[in-house]
Amino acid sequence: MLSDKKIKFCPNCGSPNVEWELPQTWSKWKCFACGYLGAFIIEDGEIAVEIRKDYIKKHSKEGKNSDAEQPI
Ligand SMILES: [Zn+2]
Repeated sequence: MLSDKKIKFCPNCGSPNVEWELPQTWSKWKCFACGYLGAFIIEDGEIAVEIRKDYIKKHSKEGKNSDAEQPI
């Protein structure tokens, strides 16, 4: 792979800190920020920003917000 122009983002937390894991036939993305492991990855920076915002919001405000719980 010579095309290293595109940055990949974690679909779970929006972090660009992801790496392609392939120890043999295993081909998945791993996120070092949240521990996500899967074949799906985000390549759109704008979407990643939204995911990240949402992720940070969820994880920074742990407390009295149980009214609006949406398990995706
Ligand atoms: Zn992540």
